[in-house]
Parts: sequence; structure tokens; C-alpha cells
Amino acid sequence: MNIFINENKINDLLEKSAGASKHEAEAIVKKALLRKGLTPEETAILLQINDPEVTEQIKAAARRIKDDIYGKRLVLFAPLYITNECVNNCLYCAFRRDNKELKRKTLALPEIAAEVRQIEAQGHKRILLVAGEDPKNSNINFLEDVIATVYKTKHGQGEIRRLNVNVAPLTVEKFKRLKKTGIGTYQLFQETYHRSTYYMVHPSGPKENYKFRLFGMDRAMEAGIDDVGIGVLFGLYDHKFEVLAMLYHSLHLEKVFGVGPHTISVPRMEPAIGAPIAHYAPYPVSDDDFKKMVAVIRLAVPYTGMILSTRENARMRNELIGLGISQISAGSKTNPGGYLDKQDDSAAQFILSDERSTSEVIVDVAKLGYIPSFCTACYRSGRTGEKFMDLAKPGEIHAFCQPNALLTYKEYLEDYADDKSKWAGEKAIELELEKISDPNIKKATREKLNAVEEGKRDLYL
Ligand code: SAM
Ligand code: SF4
Repeated sequence: MNIFINENKINDLLEKSAGASKHEAEAIVKKALLRKGLTPEETAILLQINDPEVTEQIKAAARRIKDDIYGKRLVLFAPLYITNECVNNCLYCAFRRDNKELKRKTLALPEIAAEVRQIEAQGHKRILLVAGEDPKNSNINFLEDVIATVYKTKHGQGEIRRLNVNVAPLTVEKFKRLKKTGIGTYQLFQETYHRSTYYMVHPSGPKENYKFRLFGMDRAMEAGIDDVGIGVLFGLYDHKFEVLAMLYHSLHLEKVFGVGPHTISVPRMEPAIGAPIAHYAPYPVSDDDFKKMVAVIRLAVPYTGMILSTRENARMRNELIGLGISQISAGSKTNPGGYLDKQDDSAAQFILSDERSTSEVIVDVAKLGYIPSFCTACYRSGRTGEKFMDLAKPGEIHAFCQPNALLTYKEYLEDYADDKSKWAGEKAIELELEKISDPNIKKATREKLNAVEEGKRDLYL
């Protein structure tokens, strides 16, 4: 298997592009507005340019692309941690095997159902399942049972309609079994694409194997999982190197499977109990660099969703949404059992920076002019992988996404919001409805909104 990450090439690109002129960078920003993405060479120039005016142009272009492609929608989800047992020893994570300070817990199926009910009671329809790597207890058999439990657990009007998964990479055979459970996206972060850093921060356990992880997405796609999500743990190595490496990963998947990653996640390292390097990231990314980086990714891969978690505080999250983030987690707990037992976080993976409840996040998101979306329609209508990108690239997906976002927001307002946020939300829905230009779609959306008000659920175009 050919390693598609060529470190020398990435370093050369970064070195060469350091001398690029303001004029060259401005031309690249203009090209990005065509929404065809950027080459690694062009991306390197934007990452390297230090001119404050160009940085503002990059951000303005990212805002425009975000608005054009994703409109005012922002998809919400909640993570569900099922175990913090782990055989690896990642130096940045509290779940690492040698951490004796952490209270270990693997949830039993009834506990998982209880957690899901708590998540549903907040209005969520999407879950991201997260687990430490524990081949003995939390293996594919367990995952199959867990996923079946999540999908069948209903609470009032609540149900989980899309479950994404962030677990250690599997073999093709096991990925095939995972696919059969009905997952949405399979997420896996390389953490760092820089090999010597990778080996240093993963001193033991199966995760030591850089190549097995790097080709995890190839195996997942070979097994038929066509929505995959890549990511880097920012803070481990130079963020510019990592962004270019992610771009090469994306190009590799596109070349081999005809479609790149469905999402890119941008976690920044957070302090974590018993994790030696989590408090002092070796390559910390400043807030300003992080914002610019998110904007550059938006220009480089305009159709790839970008995910931000509660690792970022409310102020940063509010700003980053405008620069290209399309999905955020809300009301999160990073310890198994955390939604039920809110007091005890001695089993948590890392310390959260955004502790707002889901309803507080939704009110804030709406105040910023965004429509909180719980939509899962694409996945359930078979619009995944290449089919999704074929609709997304000419901008056709917008015709589905906007009405579906409004319908799921309306459901949320009916079932979970207090009077004040319901009133504000309904006004926002009216405004957005007026912006739908196709009269047939507008009419169909209005009819479905009325049906939601009358008690119908799970309506989408
Ligand atoms: N155990 C699996 C693995 O490592 O791929 C999946 C779950 S792991 C809990 C999910 C992600 O959490 C990791 O990929 C890593 O990027 C992130 N993570 C670990 N420690 C972190 C920290 N201190 N701050 C922020 N994110 C962290
Ligand atoms: Fe285990 Fe994943 Fe944490 Fe590493 S990042 S210690 S593999 S849970």
C-alpha cells in the first residue's frame, strides 16, 4: 500500500510557499470563491501568508462559501461515551491505560438506554458513539448490541435517527458488520500525520501502528461505509503540516473511492486528568491561528462538513460557526454515564470548555441568526457518499437541506422549547421560509410545517 502522506513534499510546499506574495494569495482567495476547492500548493500559500488584510479576505471568503453552501443551518449532535476502558496509552488522553486517576466504566445495555433517553430528552436526534479501545469488552459484538439499543430506545417524541461512530479502526470484515448496524458516518482521527510525533505520543497498544490507522478509512470504505470523517488532534504537531496532510488524505480517498471524506473534525487539545501532555500541548494553536485555519479548510474543501465539539468555549464556537463549521455538539458529557450522573465527572475524557446546556446552545445559535438543525434526511434517503457529493457540488442539496432543517427545528420547538424560545424560533423559521425561492418547495415545506404543528413527526423532503 502506497503511503499517501509524503512528509518531504509537505515540508517543501510549506517552505516554498512561505515566500509567496500578497498578490498571489489574493488571487487564490478569489479562485476559492468559485467553490471548486484548492490544491495543496494553493492551500499552503494561504496557510503561510501572514498579511492581516489577506487573513481578513480569507475569512470573508469562508463566510461567503459557508453561507452559499450551508445557508444558515447548523447541525447539532450529542456524543455518547460507552466505555473509558482503553488498552492504548495516548499521552494526551485521560482514558490511557496507565492513568490510575480515572474511574473506569463500561456501560451495560440498560445504562446505555438510560443515557439515550437523557439525550433524547434534550431534543437530539443524532448521536456520536465514542469508545476507548478495549477488544475484550467493547468489541464488534458489543458495538452491534449497543447500536441496536440506541436505535430502539425511544422517549416521548424522542428517537435517535442517525448514529455516527468514533471507535478504533477495524478490519474490513468487522467494518462490514458495523455498516450492517445502520451507522451514519464512521469517524477516525489520525491525531497527527507526522510519523515521529505519532510514534512518540502513542507509546504502546494497537494504536502504535500508524499505517493501520492511516488506512482505516480505506478499509471502512472498502466495507461499504461511504460517509467517513477524518480529523487531527490539534496541538500535537504543526497545524499547517496537519492541514496539508488532511488534504492529501482527502485527495487519496477521492482518487481511490470517487468521494472524499464526508466531514473533517478539528479538535484542539484540552487538559485531561492523568494525561502527561494534555496540559501543555507541544504545538499549541492560538485562537487567531485556529480561526484562520478553519477558514482555510473551508476554502480548500468547500463541500466537506466541518465539525466542532465542546472542546471549544462558547465565544470561539460562535465565531467559528461563521467561518465554516457546519456541525457542533451540544450539552455534551465525555464520561460514560455522564448524562444521568451529572455531578461525577471523574471518568471524563477531557475537561469541557463549553458547559452550556443543549437548550442554551440552541438559543445562542438562533440569536446568531442560524437555524439549529436536527436533520438526518440525507442518510435516511440514501443520499450518502458519492450520491451526496453529486448533489452537494452543484448546490442542489441546499433545496433539501434548508426545508429539512426548518422542519426539524420546528419539531424541536414543539416538543422541547420553552415559550420564549419557541416564539423566537418560529419567527426565525418564517423568515427563512420566505427565502426559499422555488414556489413548490416553499409550499411543500409550509404544508409539512403545519403537519408538524398538528403532531406529525419525522417529515422531510
Ligand atoms: N479510542 C478511539 C480512538 O482513539 O480513535 C476513539 C475514541 S477517542 C476517545 C476520540 C478522540 O478524542 C481521539 O481521536 C482524540 O483525537 C480525542 N482526544 C483525546 N484526548 C483529547 C484531549 N485531551 N483533548 C481533546 N481531544 C482529545
Ligand atoms: Fe484510548 Fe482513544 Fe484515548 Fe487513545 S485517544 S487513550 S485510544 S480512548
